[in-house]
Amino acid sequence: MPEGYCVKCKAKKEIGEAVEVTTKNGRRAIKGKCPTCGTVMYKILGGKATAAAGSSPSAQPAKPPAPTT
Ligand SMILES: [Zn+2]
Repeated sequence: MPEGYCVKCKAKKEIGEAVEVTTKNGRRAIKGKCPTCGTVMYKILGGKATAAAGSSPSAQPAKPPAPTT
């Protein structure tokens, strides 16, 4: 289990129900809940998500502009 800092408990806690997410900045993070108080916790993993790491295709919303005639 990953650990994160709970601002409510003001202590390090294991992150419950942890899921890996990718932020808008393309950084990977762990999102989960404090097992004690249920506060949502984030843990930034740092580094950029690698496209080859099986990230969801929806993480790349870059669409080519509509062709103009
Ligand atoms: Zn807490």
